[in-house]
Amino acid sequence: MEKELRELKARLLEIDDLGEAGAVLGWDQQTYMPKKGAAARGRQSATLSRLAHEKRTDPGIGRLLDRLQPWAEGLGLDSDEAALIRVTRREFERWTRVPAEFVVRQAEHSARSFAAWADARPRSDFAAVRPFLEKSVDLSREYSEFFPGYDHVADPLIDLADYGLKASTLRDLFGRLREQQVPLVRAIAAQPPADDSCLHLGFPREGQEAFFHEVVRAFGFDLERGRVDVAAHPFTTRFALDDVRFTVRYDESHLGKAIFSAFHEAGHALYELGSNPAYEGTPLAGGCSSGAHESQSRLWENVVGRSRGFWTHYYPKLQTIFPAQLGEVPLDTFYRAINRVKPSLTRVEADEVTYNLHVMIRFDLELALLQGALAVRDLPEAWNARYASDLGVAVPNDREGVMQDVHWYYGTVGGLFQGYTLGNVLNAQFYEAALAERPEIPAEIAQGKFGTLHGWLKDKIYSLGNKVTASELVQQVTGGPMRIEPYIHYLRSKYGELYQI
Ligand code: ZN
Repeated sequence: MEKELRELKARLLEIDDLGEAGAVLGWDQQTYMPKKGAAARGRQSATLSRLAHEKRTDPGIGRLLDRLQPWAEGLGLDSDEAALIRVTRREFERWTRVPAEFVVRQAEHSARSFAAWADARPRSDFAAVRPFLEKSVDLSREYSEFFPGYDHVADPLIDLADYGLKASTLRDLFGRLREQQVPLVRAIAAQPPADDSCLHLGFPREGQEAFFHEVVRAFGFDLERGRVDVAAHPFTTRFALDDVRFTVRYDESHLGKAIFSAFHEAGHALYELGSNPAYEGTPLAGGCSSGAHESQSRLWENVVGRSRGFWTHYYPKLQTIFPAQLGEVPLDTFYRAINRVKPSLTRVEADEVTYNLHVMIRFDLELALLQGALAVRDLPEAWNARYASDLGVAVPNDREGVMQDVHWYYGTVGGLFQGYTLGNVLNAQFYEAALAERPEIPAEIAQGKFGTLHGWLKDKIYSLGNKVTASELVQQVTGGPMRIEPYIHYLRSKYGELYQI
């Protein structure tokens, strides 16, 4: 079987090269490409997507898998080779259902839609993006139709990001979370709001950059294996296991924005960088689901980066960088400011307590769009109504509402947002498991040391890459299925102390 395995790996490497070259084009489009490059870039991305798709769905791969499968089944669940055959089979079966012509149409549309959003967002011009979004919804439905037999039209899209999950399971999960989180949001809203004026004193970009570079390096992000650039929407992307990039956006009038989004994206990057190097060029490299990925970004951003212990160590350093702004501000005031709970307009900047409410709104709206229960034309109104009823905030314009981020204007509609909430739930569960084995972690964080935590995560989660499914990962790491209790406990104890409730 060695010859067949070698041939399969060679084919997978070519597919991976095309995918990662496409990632370079996508990264460039969002960072450095001049506006008028959009049309050519759309065509180039579509060409790469088509070539990758042809290679992914080549019947030769199916024949190799057929020959290798009986052999791989004899190797046992722990074997990397068996996992490679299993995961490649899963992806092969998924991709062969999707026609190449569709992949090209979708890639071209995504590039055009992204350009339209980037152009229209500053002027809050929803009418300009509406036809693109209508087409994205149509394309998303069309994608689902390649997988007949689904329970909900969103299921095939959800499965793409979070394998094995369905709209019905997520509705149930969100319902249970809502029951626990809404009373907490209400109890906090009844308290005097925390004062976060110390975050809005004017913080030059250079200082912010120097600070978070130092922190993400301490987390374990290696600048010889990655880069940080600026983009309108923060994201992480991988070109190779030794080249993982992330982006931030600066706001000199709000200290938290770039710093916490850097911690967040660094968490994604650490996951990618931590893959077993032997998985390079195969579908086993990288994270195993969007929920698992978000569990890592949210862990570094919040559980670590917004903890009192972390700032016990790092606040004096931040004060040294910004003495005029923070020199006289006590640690406790700063800690309360960065953990202020306040219903707001923007998901990526939401506090930990209200964050999931943003996700639930978008999840429900996506399902309604896909089901045809909501027309794109009526989306801004539906969006604004939900922000008023769920979060109690008035949306002043579409730029800060329905056009606030690139999701929905790049790629499919549906199947993207659940990952953020799954990530919140899972990060607490993983962290609880880490502390049970390595109780010294919080004391180390308070000294600015992250090696034990990073090492544990790398060993238990990152190195496995996509070898396991997310539900297998949770089972292996925590000894049971996904549970919301550790997350609810985390929120209640942290915010109970902060807000005396
Ligand atoms: Zn993320």
